[in-house]
Amino acid sequence: MLELRPNCECCDRDLALDDPNVFICTMECTWCGDCARDLADTCPNCGGGLTPRPIRPASWLARYPASTTRVFAPDCRERLTASRA
Ligand SMILES: [Zn+2]
Ligand SMILES: [Zn+2]
Repeated sequence: MLELRPNCECCDRDLALDDPNVFICTMECTWCGDCARDLADTCPNCGGGLTPRPIRPASWLARYPASTTRVFAPDCRERLTASRA
């Protein structure tokens, strides 16, 4: 089951489950739209491509709840800046 994470791994902002502007990689690393753009749609963790996160219908969310575990890589922004320097 896809892990629906509550925050952006790069900037730690909260992400709504029904926000279409949320992106994931194949390993479920999760990014907001702004960070996904900054990352050029490439996951900095695994190198895979990012794709819009599918929205789970409410009736399924009740049976298969979203993850509440925040995953945050505080050095993401630094790595991003470094890779551009
Ligand atoms: Zn972000
Ligand atoms: Zn990844």
